[in-house]
Amino acid sequence: MPETATTSERPDTSAETSGRLRFRRVLLKVSGESLTRPGEFGIDGDALDRMAGEIASVAAAGAEVAVVVGGGNIIRGAKMAEHRPVHQAVADQMGMLGTVINGMALKEAIEHHDVPARVMTALAMDAVAEPFIRARALRHLDKGRVVIFVAGTGNPFCTTDSAASLRAAEIDADALLKVTKVDGIYDKDPNRYDDAKRYGALTFDEAIAKQLNVMDVAAFAQMQAARIPIVVFDMNVPGAILDVVRGGDLGTVVS
Ligand code: UDP
Repeated sequence: MPETATTSERPDTSAETSGRLRFRRVLLKVSGESLTRPGEFGIDGDALDRMAGEIASVAAAGAEVAVVVGGGNIIRGAKMAEHRPVHQAVADQMGMLGTVINGMALKEAIEHHDVPARVMTALAMDAVAEPFIRARALRHLDKGRVVIFVAGTGNPFCTTDSAASLRAAEIDADALLKVTKVDGIYDKDPNRYDDAKRYGALTFDEAIAKQLNVMDVAAFAQMQAARIPIVVFDMNVPGAILDVVRGGDLGTVVS
Protein backbone atom coordinates (compact mmCIF):
# COMPACT_ATOMS: atom_id res chain seq x y z
CA MET A 1 0.00 0.00 0.00
CA PRO A 2 1.37 3.45 -0.87
CA GLU A 3 2.45 5.88 1.80
CA THR A 4 0.26 8.90 2.40
CA ALA A 5 2.35 12.03 1.98
CA THR A 6 1.97 15.06 4.16
CA THR A 7 2.33 18.17 2.05
CA SER A 8 1.08 21.68 2.29
CA GLU A 9 -1.44 20.88 -0.42
CA ARG A 10 -3.06 17.98 1.42
CA PRO A 11 -6.23 19.10 3.20
CA ASP A 12 -5.94 19.29 6.98
CA THR A 13 -6.49 15.77 8.25
CA SER A 14 -5.34 16.29 11.82
CA ALA A 15 -8.72 15.37 13.27
CA GLU A 16 -9.18 12.40 10.98
CA THR A 17 -6.05 10.40 10.51
CA SER A 18 -6.04 8.16 7.47
CA GLY A 19 -5.09 5.30 9.79
CA ARG A 20 -8.71 5.16 10.91
CA LEU A 21 -10.01 4.61 7.41
CA ARG A 22 -10.97 1.19 6.13
CA PHE A 23 -9.97 2.14 2.60
CA ARG A 24 -7.07 4.60 2.25
CA ARG A 25 -7.08 4.81 -1.52
CA VAL A 26 -10.35 4.50 -3.40
CA LEU A 27 -11.49 4.60 -6.98
CA LEU A 28 -14.98 6.06 -7.10
CA LYS A 29 -17.15 5.38 -10.14
CA VAL A 30 -19.57 8.26 -10.60
CA SER A 31 -22.20 7.83 -13.29
CA GLY A 32 -23.15 10.73 -15.50
CA GLU A 33 -26.73 10.55 -14.32
CA SER A 34 -25.69 11.37 -10.76
CA LEU A 35 -24.75 14.83 -12.03
CA THR A 36 -28.21 15.60 -13.37
CA ARG A 37 -31.82 15.58 -12.18
CA PRO A 38 -33.73 12.31 -12.56
CA GLY A 39 -34.85 11.86 -16.16
CA GLU A 40 -32.99 14.93 -17.42
CA PHE A 41 -29.86 15.46 -19.50
CA GLY A 42 -26.86 17.70 -19.02
CA ILE A 43 -25.42 18.89 -15.72
CA ASP A 44 -27.51 20.20 -12.85
CA GLY A 45 -25.63 22.64 -10.62
CA ASP A 46 -27.12 21.33 -7.37
CA ALA A 47 -26.49 17.68 -8.22
CA LEU A 48 -22.93 18.53 -9.27
CA ASP A 49 -22.25 20.47 -6.08
CA ARG A 50 -23.69 17.71 -3.90
CA MET A 51 -21.51 15.05 -5.51
CA ALA A 52 -18.45 17.33 -5.36
CA GLY A 53 -19.09 18.00 -1.66
CA GLU A 54 -19.31 14.27 -0.95
CA ILE A 55 -16.05 13.62 -2.79
CA ALA A 56 -14.27 16.55 -1.13
CA SER A 57 -15.30 15.32 2.32
CA VAL A 58 -13.67 11.95 1.65
CA ALA A 59 -10.42 13.59 0.56
CA ALA A 60 -10.54 15.95 3.55
CA ALA A 61 -10.83 12.90 5.83
CA GLY A 62 -7.43 11.77 4.58
CA ALA A 63 -8.33 9.23 1.90
CA GLU A 64 -6.72 9.29 -1.52
CA VAL A 65 -9.58 9.67 -3.98
CA ALA A 66 -9.58 8.91 -7.68
CA VAL A 67 -12.78 9.27 -9.68
CA VAL A 68 -13.87 7.77 -12.98
CA VAL A 69 -16.79 9.79 -14.27
CA GLY A 70 -19.36 8.51 -16.77
CA GLY A 71 -21.18 10.40 -19.47
CA GLY A 72 -24.66 8.91 -19.67
CA ASN A 73 -26.17 12.33 -18.88
CA ILE A 74 -24.75 13.63 -22.17
CA ILE A 75 -24.34 10.82 -24.72
CA ARG A 76 -24.34 7.05 -24.65
CA GLY A 77 -22.53 5.78 -27.72
CA ALA A 78 -24.55 2.61 -28.28
CA LYS A 79 -27.85 4.50 -28.10
CA MET A 80 -26.59 7.27 -30.39
CA ALA A 81 -25.51 4.71 -32.98
CA GLU A 82 -28.82 2.80 -32.83
CA HIS A 83 -30.97 4.80 -35.22
CA ARG A 84 -28.69 7.49 -36.55
CA PRO A 85 -26.07 7.46 -39.29
CA VAL A 86 -23.17 7.61 -36.83
CA HIS A 87 -20.88 4.60 -36.57
CA GLN A 88 -20.67 3.35 -33.00
CA ALA A 89 -16.89 3.84 -32.96
CA VAL A 90 -17.53 7.56 -33.52
CA ALA A 91 -20.58 7.71 -31.26
CA ASP A 92 -18.47 6.20 -28.48
CA GLN A 93 -15.80 8.85 -28.99
CA MET A 94 -18.59 11.41 -28.59
CA GLY A 95 -19.60 9.59 -25.41
CA MET A 96 -16.04 9.79 -24.14
CA LEU A 97 -16.02 13.54 -24.81
CA GLY A 98 -19.16 13.73 -22.66
CA THR A 99 -17.19 12.28 -19.74
CA VAL A 100 -14.57 15.01 -20.26
CA ILE A 101 -17.25 17.67 -19.90
CA ASN A 102 -18.47 16.05 -16.67
CA GLY A 103 -14.93 15.71 -15.33
CA MET A 104 -14.14 19.36 -15.97
CA ALA A 105 -17.29 20.40 -14.11
CA LEU A 106 -16.52 18.03 -11.24
CA LYS A 107 -12.99 19.41 -10.86
CA GLU A 108 -14.27 22.97 -10.59
CA ALA A 109 -16.95 21.95 -8.10
CA ILE A 110 -14.54 19.92 -5.93
CA GLU A 111 -12.07 22.81 -5.80
CA HIS A 112 -14.96 25.04 -4.77
CA HIS A 113 -14.97 22.87 -1.63
CA ASP A 114 -11.28 23.76 -1.07
CA VAL A 115 -9.88 20.40 -2.12
CA PRO A 116 -7.36 20.39 -5.01
CA ALA A 117 -8.31 18.26 -8.02
CA ARG A 118 -6.84 17.32 -11.39
CA VAL A 119 -8.40 15.98 -14.59
CA MET A 120 -6.50 13.28 -16.48
CA THR A 121 -7.73 12.18 -19.87
CA ALA A 122 -7.34 8.97 -21.88
CA LEU A 123 -7.82 10.95 -25.13
CA ALA A 124 -5.22 13.62 -25.88
CA MET A 125 -6.48 17.19 -25.46
CA ASP A 126 -3.65 19.22 -24.05
CA ALA A 127 -5.46 22.49 -23.59
CA VAL A 128 -8.17 20.91 -21.49
CA ALA A 129 -6.69 18.18 -19.31
CA GLU A 130 -3.48 16.33 -18.51
CA PRO A 131 -2.81 13.08 -20.31
CA PHE A 132 -3.25 10.00 -18.14
CA ILE A 133 0.21 8.99 -16.94
CA ARG A 134 0.10 6.46 -14.12
CA ALA A 135 3.09 7.77 -12.19
CA ARG A 136 1.77 11.29 -12.39
CA ALA A 137 -1.66 10.19 -11.18
CA LEU A 138 -0.04 8.48 -8.19
CA ARG A 139 1.91 11.66 -7.46
CA HIS A 140 -1.30 13.71 -7.47
CA LEU A 141 -2.93 11.25 -5.07
CA ASP A 142 0.14 11.35 -2.85
CA LYS A 143 -0.21 15.12 -2.66
CA GLY A 144 -3.84 14.90 -1.60
CA ARG A 145 -5.33 15.91 -4.93
CA VAL A 146 -8.51 14.26 -6.14
CA VAL A 147 -7.74 12.78 -9.56
CA ILE A 148 -10.59 12.64 -12.04
CA PHE A 149 -10.05 10.19 -14.88
CA VAL A 150 -11.99 11.13 -18.01
CA ALA A 151 -12.51 9.83 -21.56
CA GLY A 152 -13.00 6.32 -20.19
CA THR A 153 -10.42 3.86 -21.45
CA GLY A 154 -9.88 5.92 -24.60
CA ASN A 155 -11.35 3.07 -26.65
CA PRO A 156 -14.80 2.69 -28.19
CA PHE A 157 -17.02 -0.30 -27.39
CA CYS A 158 -16.13 0.06 -23.71
CA THR A 159 -17.98 1.62 -20.79
CA THR A 160 -16.79 3.76 -17.92
CA ASP A 161 -17.22 0.70 -15.67
CA SER A 162 -14.37 -0.92 -17.62
CA ALA A 163 -12.41 2.31 -17.20
CA ALA A 164 -13.11 2.26 -13.45
CA SER A 165 -11.80 -1.27 -12.99
CA LEU A 166 -8.81 -0.55 -15.23
CA ARG A 167 -7.79 2.56 -13.31
CA ALA A 168 -8.51 0.92 -9.93
CA ALA A 169 -6.04 -1.83 -10.84
CA GLU A 170 -3.50 0.64 -12.22
CA ILE A 171 -3.43 2.78 -9.07
CA ASP A 172 -3.65 -0.20 -6.65
CA ALA A 173 -6.86 1.09 -5.13
CA ASP A 174 -7.97 -0.50 -1.87
CA ALA A 175 -11.55 -0.57 -3.16
CA LEU A 176 -13.68 0.33 -6.15
CA LEU A 177 -16.72 2.25 -4.92
CA LYS A 178 -19.70 2.25 -7.25
CA VAL A 179 -22.52 4.61 -6.39
CA THR A 180 -25.93 3.67 -7.80
CA LYS A 181 -29.57 4.61 -7.40
CA VAL A 182 -30.28 1.72 -5.03
CA ASP A 183 -28.66 0.71 -1.77
CA GLY A 184 -26.71 -2.30 -3.01
CA ILE A 185 -26.96 -5.35 -5.24
CA TYR A 186 -30.32 -7.13 -5.45
CA ASP A 187 -31.29 -10.53 -6.85
CA LYS A 188 -33.75 -8.68 -9.14
CA ASP A 189 -34.67 -5.09 -9.93
CA PRO A 190 -35.95 -3.60 -6.64
CA ASN A 191 -37.77 -0.86 -8.56
CA ARG A 192 -39.90 -3.50 -10.28
CA TYR A 193 -40.18 -6.32 -7.75
CA ASP A 194 -41.36 -5.84 -4.14
CA ASP A 195 -39.80 -9.16 -3.09
CA ALA A 196 -36.33 -8.25 -4.41
CA LYS A 197 -33.65 -9.31 -1.91
CA ARG A 198 -30.52 -7.26 -1.22
CA TYR A 199 -27.20 -9.03 -0.77
CA GLY A 200 -24.97 -7.81 2.08
CA ALA A 201 -21.90 -9.49 0.62
CA LEU A 202 -21.10 -11.57 -2.45
CA THR A 203 -18.06 -13.31 -3.80
CA PHE A 204 -16.82 -12.35 -7.26
CA ASP A 205 -17.71 -15.84 -8.50
CA GLU A 206 -21.30 -15.39 -7.26
CA ALA A 207 -21.59 -11.91 -8.79
CA ILE A 208 -20.34 -13.15 -12.16
CA ALA A 209 -22.43 -16.36 -12.12
CA LYS A 210 -25.61 -14.47 -11.23
CA GLN A 211 -24.97 -12.02 -14.10
CA LEU A 212 -26.03 -9.16 -11.85
CA ASN A 213 -26.76 -6.05 -13.80
CA VAL A 214 -24.57 -3.74 -11.72
CA MET A 215 -21.25 -3.65 -13.51
CA ASP A 216 -19.82 -5.24 -16.63
CA VAL A 217 -18.70 -8.83 -16.13
CA ALA A 218 -15.29 -7.72 -17.42
CA ALA A 219 -15.05 -5.14 -14.61
CA PHE A 220 -15.96 -7.76 -11.98
CA ALA A 221 -13.39 -10.17 -13.46
CA GLN A 222 -10.66 -7.54 -13.48
CA MET A 223 -11.29 -6.63 -9.84
CA GLN A 224 -11.31 -10.30 -8.91
CA ALA A 225 -7.91 -10.79 -10.55
CA ALA A 226 -6.54 -7.67 -8.86
CA ARG A 227 -8.14 -8.64 -5.49
CA ILE A 228 -9.81 -5.26 -5.18
CA PRO A 229 -13.24 -5.32 -3.49
CA ILE A 230 -16.18 -3.51 -5.07
CA VAL A 231 -18.66 -1.72 -2.81
CA VAL A 232 -22.02 -0.85 -4.36
CA PHE A 233 -24.17 1.64 -2.46
CA ASP A 234 -26.82 4.36 -2.71
CA MET A 235 -25.65 7.75 -3.97
CA ASN A 236 -28.70 9.49 -2.50
CA VAL A 237 -27.70 8.98 1.13
CA PRO A 238 -25.76 12.05 2.31
CA GLY A 239 -22.33 11.09 3.68
CA ALA A 240 -22.50 7.57 2.23
CA ILE A 241 -19.14 7.67 0.45
CA LEU A 242 -17.30 8.83 3.56
CA ASP A 243 -19.18 6.27 5.63
CA VAL A 244 -18.08 3.44 3.35
CA VAL A 245 -14.48 4.68 3.35
CA ARG A 246 -14.54 4.70 7.17
CA GLY A 247 -15.81 1.13 7.28
CA GLY A 248 -19.57 1.67 7.58
CA ASP A 249 -21.75 -1.32 6.77
CA LEU A 250 -23.46 0.11 3.69
CA GLY A 251 -24.59 -1.46 0.45
CA THR A 252 -23.15 -4.68 -0.94
CA VAL A 253 -19.49 -5.71 -0.86
CA VAL A 254 -18.21 -7.98 -3.63
CA SER A 255 -14.87 -9.50 -2.65
N1 UDP B 1 -17.23 5.26 -23.63
C1 UDP B 1 -16.36 4.60 -24.49
N2 UDP B 1 -15.24 4.02 -23.99
C2 UDP B 1 -14.94 4.02 -22.68
C3 UDP B 1 -15.82 4.66 -21.79
C4 UDP B 1 -16.96 5.27 -22.29
O1 UDP B 1 -16.59 4.55 -25.69
O2 UDP B 1 -13.89 3.46 -22.28
C5 UDP B 1 -18.39 5.98 -24.17
C6 UDP B 1 -19.57 5.09 -24.47
O3 UDP B 1 -20.19 5.57 -25.64
C7 UDP B 1 -20.47 5.33 -23.28
C8 UDP B 1 -20.24 6.80 -23.00
O4 UDP B 1 -18.82 6.95 -23.25
O5 UDP B 1 -21.84 5.11 -23.59
C9 UDP B 1 -20.56 7.25 -21.61
O6 UDP B 1 -20.06 6.34 -20.66
P1 UDP B 1 -21.04 5.43 -19.77
O7 UDP B 1 -22.23 5.02 -20.55
O8 UDP B 1 -20.22 4.33 -19.18
O9 UDP B 1 -21.45 6.47 -18.65
P2 UDP B 1 -22.33 6.29 -17.33
O10 UDP B 1 -23.40 5.26 -17.60
O11 UDP B 1 -21.42 5.85 -16.25
O12 UDP B 1 -22.87 7.66 -17.07
